[in-house]
Amino acid sequence: MEKLTTSGVTRAVLAKFGIRARKKYGQNFLTDGNIVRGIVEASGVGPEDCVLEIGPGIGTMTQYLSEAAGKVVCVEIDESLRPVLALTLEDCDNVEVIWQDILKTDLRDLADRYNGGRPLKVVANLPYYVTTPILIRLLEEKGCFESITVMVQKEVADRICAGAGSKEYGALSLAVQYFSDPQVVLKVPPSCFFPSPAVESAVLHLQAYAEPPVEADEEFMFALIRASFNQRRKTLANGLSHGFRCKGRTLTRGEVEEALSSMGLQPDIRGEKLSLEQFAALSRQLAGKQDM
Ligand code: SAM
Repeated sequence: MEKLTTSGVTRAVLAKFGIRARKKYGQNFLTDGNIVRGIVEASGVGPEDCVLEIGPGIGTMTQYLSEAAGKVVCVEIDESLRPVLALTLEDCDNVEVIWQDILKTDLRDLADRYNGGRPLKVVANLPYYVTTPILIRLLEEKGCFESITVMVQKEVADRICAGAGSKEYGALSLAVQYFSDPQVVLKVPPSCFFPSPAVESAVLHLQAYAEPPVEADEEFMFALIRASFNQRRKTLANGLSHGFRCKGRTLTRGEVEEALSSMGLQPDIRGEKLSLEQFAALSRQLAGKQDM
C-alpha cells in the first residue's frame, strides 16, 4: 500500500470507503510526510521499542511507525475505520489495532501484554477534544510510559511548557512538569492536515522522569495547585483558605501566610507566581502541620 502522506491520497482513500472525517472524534488526518517523519524521529522509536499509537485514524503515521518500531499497538475509538486500516496496514505485520476508547483502556495491561511489563513509547496525533484527559491519564499511570510524543493544539503546548509567572502557566503546566520534561519539537500549520483544523498545532515530546523532580505528598500538593488556580484572581492565602480541601483538611488564611513567610515569600503572593519547587515546599510545610 502506498503512503498516505499527501492530501490527494488521503482524500482518495476516504472517498473509496465513503468515509468523512468525524468532527466528534477530532479527526484531522495528517497529510505531510515531513511532519510524520519528524514526529517519528523526535519520538526516538527504534526496532527494540513497543509503541502505543492513540487514534491511528486511516493509518498515516502507523505506516511509518511500523517501519521504525519493533511492535505498534494502536487504540482507535472509531470502528467505521476498520476496513480502511485493513487496507492501509495490510503490509504492516507488527501492528495490532484495539478498537476502544483510550480513556477506558487498561494501560498497565497494554504494557504487560505487549511489552512484558516494560514501559511503552506513546506516539500520537491526539484528538484535540480530549487532549488533556488523555495526557493526564498517561502521566498518572506511572512506569507505563517512557516517553510521549504527541501533536496537540499549539495553545495547549504553550500552556504545558509555561513557567511560573506567565499568563499560560497553570495547573496543567504543573501536572505535566511534575511527571516529565516537556519540549516543543515541531510547530505545525493547519495546511498539514485534511481537513485543516482551525488552530495551529505543535508536537510535544515528554520524557518521563524515573522519579518526580520534587518531594511532596502528591495528593496534597495537587489539591493545593488546583485550589490556587481555581481562584486565580485571589491571593494564594485567600484562595486556599476558601477553596482547599484534602483528606478532610482545610486551611486558614493565617496558616498559609505563615507558611509563605517561612519560605521567604510575600503573604499576598498569587499562586501563578509559584514554581513547582515552591508548591512542593509549601505543601511540605502545610501538610507537616497535622498528621496526614
Ligand atoms: N493518527 C491519524 C493521523 O495522524 O492522521 C489520526 C489523528 S486524528 C487527529 C485523532 C484520531 O483519534 C482519530 O482517528 C479519532 O477517531 C481517534 N480518537 C478520538 N477519540 C478517541 C478516543 N477516545 N480513543 C481512541 N481514539 C480516539
